[in-house]
Amino acid sequence: MQYDVIIVGAGPGGIFAAYELTRRDEHLKIAVFEAGHPLNKRRCPINGTTVKSCISCKSCSIMSGFGGAGAFSDGKYNITNDFGGTLYEYIGKQKALELMRYVDEINMAYGGAGTKLYSTAGTQFKKLCLQNDLHLLDASVRHLGTDINYVVLENLYDHLRERVDFFFDTPVKSIEAVEGGFRVECAEGSYLGRKCIVSVGRSGSKWMETVCRELDIPTRSNRVDIGVRVELPAVVFSHLTDELYESKIVYKTPKYGDRVRTFCMNPKGAVVNENTNGIITVNGHSYEDPAKQTENTNFALLVAKHFSEPFKDSNGYGESIARLSNMLGGGVIVQRFGDLIRGQRSTPKRMEESFVTPTLNATPGDLSLVLPKRILDGIIEMLYALDKIAPGTANDDTLLYGVEVKFYNMEVAVDEKLETKYPGLYIIGDGSGITHSLSHASASGVYVAREITQK
Ligand SMILES: Cc1cc2nc3c(=O)[nH]c(=O)nc-3n(C[C@H](O)[C@H](O)[C@H](O)COP(=O)(O)OP(=O)(O)OC[C@H]3O[C@@H](n4cnc5c(N)ncnc54)[C@H](O)[C@@H]3O)c2cc1C
Repeated sequence: MQYDVIIVGAGPGGIFAAYELTRRDEHLKIAVFEAGHPLNKRRCPINGTTVKSCISCKSCSIMSGFGGAGAFSDGKYNITNDFGGTLYEYIGKQKALELMRYVDEINMAYGGAGTKLYSTAGTQFKKLCLQNDLHLLDASVRHLGTDINYVVLENLYDHLRERVDFFFDTPVKSIEAVEGGFRVECAEGSYLGRKCIVSVGRSGSKWMETVCRELDIPTRSNRVDIGVRVELPAVVFSHLTDELYESKIVYKTPKYGDRVRTFCMNPKGAVVNENTNGIITVNGHSYEDPAKQTENTNFALLVAKHFSEPFKDSNGYGESIARLSNMLGGGVIVQRFGDLIRGQRSTPKRMEESFVTPTLNATPGDLSLVLPKRILDGIIEMLYALDKIAPGTANDDTLLYGVEVKFYNMEVAVDEKLETKYPGLYIIGDGSGITHSLSHASASGVYVAREITQK
């Protein structure tokens, strides 16, 4: 065996697994294989002038490379079991929180010190939300911001590169169980490791499906969240964002009983494109540095869609809807809320007359031609409900970008150690379908590293 541990994927799951392995046993030989570039080479070509929209690079610098999908994210580490994944179902609530706090300590030690930890504990907004049939979820959130998040990753990389062999631009093609360990196959050749941790995130979801099929590891998938990204003047939400930074609010729609929730709130942030398997969807981020902040706040409104038998391809459903917006708009579509309500498309002229200046260059259009009625109704109902706690949310000029899709990786069958039926093969992070966030993915990495070193 060339390595004691092979890690596939250098997102938060892979990074924190590598970090904890090196911390617990400095003699371990560890390799990390990453499909994307090193952090300093990750650059999205969209510059707003010569390249205005996604050109589908071979390796998407937003989603892939050292730091994974989180590298240019807002760096919100939510310390909670209420959302962000179901890691606690495997390892217990107490342990999950303890590991998330540990990850926070490491982030602080590697450049995050001085950033703010917000909390919903004792806030008066819980009552305000309840009075309007909205439900504010409990969480502490560390907001690193896109800039500090990058610094933390740089520092972690500087620490790890002395101790770990990194193979960048090296997608793993297949994993094979061999005697005493695992063989990972890349274009340049194959490598052997005693243990293997797979942490390939969202961008590796299709590949993960293939691996599970080849190794006969059971999977299940039945959920996708579909919605829009809302952008409005920061002042409309400032009473909430100043105190909580991010508020996760859930609403049960009277019409269908569907759950709609706010997700990924970015005060004074920017809306961005996201490329998942060649499909352009929307996301958002914001900077800690006031010089880089905008006058707008953005957040997603997502409707959770669970499917029952016989339908199994929930992600395929989400992709089809996203493809429709790509087909009509050449990418992401933007529409003013007032235009949506009046049943008319937004046009470049109407957008110019709008009081809210979009932070993403998207195509003005009509989201009602893209989103299924049930989902659109849920979003409209939620916007009116939010308008009661943040008046101005349902203004004519509130911008809706579509579509935002939160794909869920199919859930891979692992045990309470996050180990598959092959002893020594662990599946962690978003690629496992168990986590959906920076904090949970990182915590899962620490968890398996401890499992391995304890063994
Ligand atoms: C724009 C954006 C903003 C976000 N903001 C937040 C936020 O503020 N807070 C939050 O909690 N979450 C946020 N998220 C989600 C968060 O980034 C993910 O939950 C987290 O990164 C998951 O970590 P991971 O290690 O499981 O996977 P990833 O971060 O996706 O990393 C997986 C890595 O594996 C690599 N890979 C894939 N396939 C292969 C292969 N075959 N061989 C080798 N390498 C492979 C990929 O290139 C990637 O680098 C955001 C996501 C995006 C895209």
